[in-house]
Amino acid sequence: MSYDDGNIFARILRGEIPCDKVYENDHALAFRDIAPKAPTHVLVIPRGPYETLHEFAEKGSDAELAGWVRAMAAVARAEEVTEGGYRATVNNGRHGNQEVPHVHAHIVGGRQLGGAPRG
Ligand code: 5GP
Repeated sequence: MSYDDGNIFARILRGEIPCDKVYENDHALAFRDIAPKAPTHVLVIPRGPYETLHEFAEKGSDAELAGWVRAMAAVARAEEVTEGGYRATVNNGRHGNQEVPHVHAHIVGGRQLGGAPRG
């Protein structure tokens, strides 16, 4: 599979489409989901051209992976959901119902969430 650099998150990374930015570091960008499922619903994406979590986990550098995970923690801290708790979810590939082909973590919180995972 080759990375589609016309996908919506690639376009957000290039600044071609606006986003509601929450946080960024050298390796990751975080912005609010356009259709939030909870008071906090932020997407955290690596800057590199990785389609799935699986590809990123296998091919991403240690610095990229660390930058992405630390960005999730920074987002949770900025959104003040660390005390109440939150969910970090990555949908991976077709069976995982991944819609946008650029790896992204959903940081969801700010209210009591239902049990997970669900099929
Ligand atoms: P997935 O199902 O791939 O894990 O999640 C994709 C997420 O991207 C969805 O929650 C959807 O609401 C969000 N999304 C889709 N297009 C856009 C967009 O243009 N901007 C933002 N901020 N979020 C988007």
